[in-house]
Amino acid sequence: MKILFLGVGEACDSRHGNCSILVHAKDTTLLLDCGFSVPHRFFHYCDDPDCLDNVWISHFHGDHFLGLPLLLLRFWEMGRTRPLQFIGQENLKEKALAALELAYPGFADKLTFSLQFTTITPGTTVTINTLHIQAAVSGHSQKNYGLLVNDNKCSLYYSGDGRATEATRRLMHGCDLALHESFTMRDSIPGHGSVESCLQLMNEENIKQLALLHMERKTRYRERETLTRLVAAHPGLLLPKEDDSLSLP
Ligand SMILES: [Zn+2]
Ligand SMILES: [Zn+2]
Repeated sequence: MKILFLGVGEACDSRHGNCSILVHAKDTTLLLDCGFSVPHRFFHYCDDPDCLDNVWISHFHGDHFLGLPLLLLRFWEMGRTRPLQFIGQENLKEKALAALELAYPGFADKLTFSLQFTTITPGTTVTINTLHIQAAVSGHSQKNYGLLVNDNKCSLYYSGDGRATEATRRLMHGCDLALHESFTMRDSIPGHGSVESCLQLMNEENIKQLALLHMERKTRYRERETLTRLVAAHPGLLLPKEDDSLSLP
């Protein structure tokens, strides 16, 4: 499994762009979240209209979801023909089509490729080729699913937004890499995680590597020296930037 960070920032971060990760598995590709700024970063890497197979949407806040209309418009402009599958919580289809209609009225009828929607429910597994996907609800202001992707060789957890819950902890336990939101240094904002709680998670849930994402932009800047020290002191703790990539065995 290969992972490319397209964006690592929170909603308003103009320097780092909205959080989004492109996952290349053996036989499929998966985009994790598609916020406002993501399509431009994504198409920086993609000039094949059929290069993407699946899009995961963790929740419906704009920095995770409202890049969809532009993603679809650009694929259409490039002449895409293959179906594109969206995976997420209930109402994903209605929300996605409503966003598309608001952005480009009538455009859904012009699409030259089909949109497929798969709803995932906590406690069940969705299988896409060799990938097995499970979800659990995190502690966020809007219902958000943390996601576990497993390809029988390695496992990747992506939090979307929100603090870890007992259910998301069970999901990420023992995973090879967790991509987790860490909005502040310590838990201080309800509905968001922190650097401190991510370090605890890494330790308590036996996570091999953990990448800090979605950090509040002023915190990221103000605390940069502390963050550099923390990363140096904790093997496996990562502070990725956009365009960084990782390979899992
Ligand atoms: Zn959110
Ligand atoms: Zn967010």
